[in-house]
Amino acid sequence: MGTAFSLQQSLLAVMLSLAGLGYAASFQRYRFALGWLILLWLALGLGAGPLSTGLGFGIEHDVVQVVNGWLPWNLLALALLPRIPLFSRAVIAIAVLLILQQAVPLMLDPEDLASRLTLNQWLVSWLPADVHGYLLPLEPKLLTIACLAFFIRWQKSHSASELFLFLLSCAMLMASLRPAYAYPCFLAACACMMLGVLLASHDMAFVDPLTRLKNRRALDNAMKTLSGNFAIAMLDIDHFKKVNDRFGHDFGDQVLRMVAARVRRLRLCQPYRYGGEEFCLLFRGRTLVEAKKRCEQIRQEISSRPVAMRGMGRPHRKPLKKSAYRQKVPSVKATVSIGVAHSSKHAGDAQTVVAAADKALYRAKKGGRNRVEVSR
Ligand code: GH3
Ligand code: MG
Ligand code: MG
Repeated sequence: MGTAFSLQQSLLAVMLSLAGLGYAASFQRYRFALGWLILLWLALGLGAGPLSTGLGFGIEHDVVQVVNGWLPWNLLALALLPRIPLFSRAVIAIAVLLILQQAVPLMLDPEDLASRLTLNQWLVSWLPADVHGYLLPLEPKLLTIACLAFFIRWQKSHSASELFLFLLSCAMLMASLRPAYAYPCFLAACACMMLGVLLASHDMAFVDPLTRLKNRRALDNAMKTLSGNFAIAMLDIDHFKKVNDRFGHDFGDQVLRMVAARVRRLRLCQPYRYGGEEFCLLFRGRTLVEAKKRCEQIRQEISSRPVAMRGMGRPHRKPLKKSAYRQKVPSVKATVSIGVAHSSKHAGDAQTVVAAADKALYRAKKGGRNRVEVSR
């Protein structure tokens, strides 16, 4: 990435990355924020000459090479860094390191800097001469590793930040291979990051972080679009307070996640977390008989196997006999009660259908729990 931006390109690049940085920070998405910081540094580096002369500072430092040299290392570090909160010492340390990367070349004598090897050439120069050919240029190689690391993280976490940091690294890799395309690649990276922040904000608004099901707000929106033939079921975990009291809140959370996962896996309805240990199941285009049958399948699936407490009594080595480990781990058999109601009996009004499903749920609880009741 040898090319520098023009003054207009530099100004736009700096403004875009500053806006992105502020937006990501306001949502406390530190991985996005660091991604934007890396883009800002790139914009400042590639725009250093035109920006300093254009804005009347008269600094003629050729910091481009130095900043570009840091870019793949920064992305690689971000790819390998564990998840940490935005306002933590680790993030402050990273920010200080990034500032030093910019400040040090500015403090050096320009003549000296221009004649210097780039950071990566200098690093490689320490290694035996016969490996230089394999390692140089180092930037694309480091960026390829960063791309792979972000890709693997995204495959594991399915999180928007990993996907868009992967795309950011791809854009930077492209720019390092074709320096003439540095500016379009920079804009593409900005677009990827902005899309990532928007998707992450969408997740924050509409996805329940514990169960990863859609939340109550998403349900309210969906209910506004409901019409015609549909059924709604309210599902409540039985005696959930006892699970919390006996095994602790963390295990209660595990049970909630398990119930959500089993409902989702069956793909019989659109599930939402209604609040607490209650879920709302939406059956679009289904008759009451069909919805009841599906609710019965869901109830059976949840009660079919107990939930084992994770992380307790788990041996360091995998036991030869699976059963030997299972026996020691506390587990509970969670059951659920479900009340289901249909639109045809309530003039198609979703709110009334929910209220009727809630009444049916109450009857399921009174009738002994672990059962499905239909609205009368
Ligand atoms: P019932 O069979 O009548 O539904 O009894 P219950 O104990 O399930 O119902 P109750 O409403 O008395 O208690 C619900 C409990 O769910 C109380 C609350 O502490 C717990 N709870 C709500 N949200 C969460 C959560 O996110 N995590 C955990 N671990 N517990 C939660
Ligand atoms: Mg309950
Ligand atoms: Mg409840």
